[in-house]
Amino acid sequence: MTVPEYFGSKVFDDRVMKARLSSDIYRSLKQTMEEGRELDLSVANAVASAMCAWAVENGATHFTHWFQPLTGTTAEKHDSFISPAPDGRVIMEFSGKELIKGEPDASSFPSGGLRATFEARGYTAWDPTSYAFLKDKTLCIPTAFCSYGGEALDKKTPLLRSMEALNKQALRILRIFGNADVKRVTSSVGPEQEYFLIDRELWKKRRDLVYTGRTLFGAMPPKGQELEDHYFGVIKPRVQAYMNDLNEELWKLGILAKTEHNEVAPSQHELAPIYSTTNVATDHNQLTMEMMKKVAAKHGLVCLLHEKPFAGVNGSGKHNNWSISTDTGINLLSPGETPYENAQFLLFLVAVIQAVDEYQDLLRLSVATAGNDHRLGANEAPPAVISIFLGDELTAVLGAIETDSPYNGTEKMKLKLGADVLPRFTRDTTDRNRTSPFAFTGNKFEFRMVGSGDSIACANIMLNSSVAEILRRMADTLEGAENFDETLHNLIKDTVSAHERIIFNGNGYDDAWIAEATEKRGLLNLRTTPEALSRLLDKKNVDMLTAHGVFTEAELRSRYEIQLENYCKSVRIEALTMVDMARKEIIPAAESYAASLASSVAAKKAAVSELDCHYETRRIRKLSALTDMMDERTEELASAAAHLDTIHDTTEQGEEIVNGILPKMARLRAVCDEAETLTPSDCWPFPTYGDLLFSV
Ligand code: ADP
Ligand code: MG
Repeated sequence: MTVPEYFGSKVFDDRVMKARLSSDIYRSLKQTMEEGRELDLSVANAVASAMCAWAVENGATHFTHWFQPLTGTTAEKHDSFISPAPDGRVIMEFSGKELIKGEPDASSFPSGGLRATFEARGYTAWDPTSYAFLKDKTLCIPTAFCSYGGEALDKKTPLLRSMEALNKQALRILRIFGNADVKRVTSSVGPEQEYFLIDRELWKKRRDLVYTGRTLFGAMPPKGQELEDHYFGVIKPRVQAYMNDLNEELWKLGILAKTEHNEVAPSQHELAPIYSTTNVATDHNQLTMEMMKKVAAKHGLVCLLHEKPFAGVNGSGKHNNWSISTDTGINLLSPGETPYENAQFLLFLVAVIQAVDEYQDLLRLSVATAGNDHRLGANEAPPAVISIFLGDELTAVLGAIETDSPYNGTEKMKLKLGADVLPRFTRDTTDRNRTSPFAFTGNKFEFRMVGSGDSIACANIMLNSSVAEILRRMADTLEGAENFDETLHNLIKDTVSAHERIIFNGNGYDDAWIAEATEKRGLLNLRTTPEALSRLLDKKNVDMLTAHGVFTEAELRSRYEIQLENYCKSVRIEALTMVDMARKEIIPAAESYAASLASSVAAKKAAVSELDCHYETRRIRKLSALTDMMDERTEELASAAAHLDTIHDTTEQGEEIVNGILPKMARLRAVCDEAETLTPSDCWPFPTYGDLLFSV
């Protein structure tokens, strides 16, 4: 079968709906999807029965409400379609009620104190804007997940709310510009996904990879990524076979997988889809990650989605390409053809600039995880400081507006935004600054701080909400304006001068930039997850997010708890894994190698008594010293981990991790990695970096 023939074959998409629903039902469903109208039960019943028939014809036996709890992954509980018939047989059945609402036992999902333990129930509610699909023998229905009190327990609910907030405020702006035909504004996302592929047999031998998704030990091999010969290099046959299979699975699921290439680090690759609506892109990215892992297993591989699987080698991120567009097909971040469109574009552009500046903390904390902390601020990924790359041309345009000076050397023309005098400018896609955490790339912004293993939901919730907030303030100003042109001009001008500190077109990896950003410009440098997360509950953030109905204050408190708790738990598991590996594998290996050297000294001396055995003695001395240190540092880490368990306040736990646990983990690793370099390969207890990185 050709790709167009099987693309979307596992999706209950528009084609299937059109073919299987009566035109009345189809129309009501479309209205629900496009305008957010409530669905009545008779329509839901008809849709459910068509879905069931289609799913069963395609081999399904079960259905599930597919949702995204705060664990960061997806969850499903399968129910079969079977229903007993009076004659002892079964029929396959699925009702509108079952489609619209589910009641999974929610007690084991994190709720951050939102749900009292006696109230274990939560419910899932169908999100008709994301298509149902088939996974193996199960019909998956994308749903939101809430507590009975209505508080969101998932990532989809606030994401949908943030899209609604952005829609509302962006429509106000469009109306002011005289745009009457647009019904809806949505944000779109194309997430580029990075990942590592390693051999499954080698992976099994490393408990750090199995338990934590990253290596906790490992000396650098003689060759790493310095030659940069992997980036865009020829894809090896085994990897190509994997990518082909993966593409096929994704295409069947209607996911627009488009680009694939090798990344900078050995064994690192990237997959980019064509962009779609934010919530669909989020669902699809979750599915993509799931498929990446599943397909890898079939090829004897493991797909690592951790942000930093190997120290000293590039980590993996996700580039969240984000834009806003109308249902009439206009990208609001694309510089228009006419001066008037340009003015509208500039307003949206400076709104994003202001939003990113005012809510730097929210963007940073939206990508804060234990894994990502190893990446942000290292020499490869965007720093923990947020800034915007605009490119020279747009920066010059904004500069000219700000200073009321001529743009582009055109002496006579003063830049006025009202209408006809604004110069046309082309979009600047030439200078792609890869070091910027937030880069304008012609008609979209690319937020590059998202971690590879994380859901993109949080980042987009914060982006949508903060931009909605700035658009709200701008709409308030413009709606009441007596002289629209002048008010608009001043608004753009004032916004540029108040927020130009966030614009930086230079090298974001440069230490000098970090100093300038923090000391001269007063930008935030939130290096760790606990530090970043502590900002979530700042009044300005709570006020903004609650005002737009994206979160309630209780939801924010619960999210703070959960995200920080996830962080503490992940690092705790890492610490315990290190202790375990050091005690049971590394120290015994070094010890037994030293012992074998000692017996060889004894044997040699027995044979030739006057031998000095300098080599062996030196090695034994060195290894014994290292072993002592390894033991000392292992026990030091073990007691720090034990102490951590006595702390019950999550905020204090977070502090203890940053100041106590992480430095001790680094100290233990350093001696173990040194011992690795002195021990023969066949004595080392698990595969090395060289084995892992160059095996596929
Ligand atoms: P790169 O960043 O590697 O140069 P591209 O610029 O081609 O790659 O695109 C990267 C991603 O941006 C793709 O996933 C693409 O679909 C997405 N993208 C393009 N236009 C938009 C848009 N208007 N909104 C959101 N994402 C977009
Ligand atoms: Mg990119």
